[in-house]
Amino acid sequence: MQKSPERYDFLIVGGGIFGIYAALYLARRGLRICLVEKERELLKKASIVNQARLHSGYHYPRSVATALMSDDNKARFTTDHQDFINFEFEKYYAIDRFGSFTDSQQFERFCAFIGIPCKAVVGHPLFNYHRLEALYSTIEYAFDPYLIADYYRHQLEQAREQVEVRMYTRLAEACADGGEWRVVLEGLAYGQQQEVRAGQVINATYAGSNAINRLFGLSDIDLMHEISEMAFLTSPQVQGIGLTVMDGQFGSIMPYGLSGLLSLSSVAYTHHKVSYDNLPRFDCQEQNPECRPDFTAICNACPAKPRSNYRKMLGQISHYFNESVQFQYFTSMFTIKSKLKASYIDDGRPTEISILNDNPRFYCIFAGKINSIYEIEKVVEF
Ligand SMILES: Cc1cc2nc3c(=O)[nH]c(=O)nc-3n(C[C@H](O)[C@H](O)[C@H](O)COP(=O)(O)OP(=O)(O)OC[C@H]3O[C@@H](n4cnc5c(N)ncnc54)[C@H](O)[C@@H]3O)c2cc1C
Repeated sequence: MQKSPERYDFLIVGGGIFGIYAALYLARRGLRICLVEKERELLKKASIVNQARLHSGYHYPRSVATALMSDDNKARFTTDHQDFINFEFEKYYAIDRFGSFTDSQQFERFCAFIGIPCKAVVGHPLFNYHRLEALYSTIEYAFDPYLIADYYRHQLEQAREQVEVRMYTRLAEACADGGEWRVVLEGLAYGQQQEVRAGQVINATYAGSNAINRLFGLSDIDLMHEISEMAFLTSPQVQGIGLTVMDGQFGSIMPYGLSGLLSLSSVAYTHHKVSYDNLPRFDCQEQNPECRPDFTAICNACPAKPRSNYRKMLGQISHYFNESVQFQYFTSMFTIKSKLKASYIDDGRPTEISILNDNPRFYCIFAGKINSIYEIEKVVEF
């Protein structure tokens, strides 16, 4: 006789920080959750491979909405994760003299409007003012993605009575049935299948969002995707200092949390390949049968990942520092960065949670920034 299917209040797809936070939030309310992750480990993608900027709003002079949302969530995220945040570095924002989409007056007006501190700094010995129109001392912190990942793995372990985690598992089938979702899960190691039922589904798969939406017969959200590289460096002179040059094809270097490394990104060189398809479709997938547009693998572990652009990134950021400043390259990490196509114009990074089906309920979380994990609380009903 066939075993009756397991029943959950919520099935959450995607074991990044957004899926895990949603699972813990709902578990604390006494609900029963099944969290499904396709990889062998949780938190191996965007939740780790990012610049670790605890956004205060400075980064979005063209998107007041994103800037305000950053500020909204920052205080709570800071309190909840204070042991994993680097508060102890000097953070500078700067405007390039050449080719910037913003200028010093506009940046100062924007900071005043949002209500975030920015103080002009004249004659700082580390920086090259021939390239910088203006340099500002600001307040921005860096979270530590690895420490945060450890923290959330531990939290999940503590919540194991409520949250069942299915790793290395895919969704083979899904359909609505009698006011709930019927889903067939398939273990990727041995191909064993199991039917489960859930009252509601949360899709928190980021780059995988549309593949899961389609599996449930629901509509796409309009996305584009980039294979992105974060480079990691050390520097004897730039210990405890971060610099972000706004706004255009520039770059940013800042402490990667509490690791002692600096993360380096560059708008021009971080993004190696772009896919304007709603699914992340890249030519390198032809070289890795385990990575498909509807089921992407971990770029960082992929033999077909792009060659590093770190020399170009380093060349670019070095222009803003004085010649005595030295950087040593350590390593790079790669992942897919996904963006809402609608954000292309203002470069905003909102976190959007869409209800794609009402009965049974299906939410699609598209995450713009890590400190917006709490947005789920404003939308989910149980
Ligand atoms: C290069 C880069 C720099 C960034 N910089 C910052 C920054 O400085 N500050 C900031 O706040 N934010 C930053 N972000 C954004 C932030 O990293 C993301 O918004 C956030 O990590 C998304 O989290 P997530 O849990 O939604 O996605 P992820 O961490 O990608 O997790 C999604 C999970 O879903 C799983 N999955 C996918 N498909 C399936 C499937 N079919 N079945 C089961 N599981 C599946 C994946 O394996 C993955 O584990 C950056 C992002 C990138 C890429």
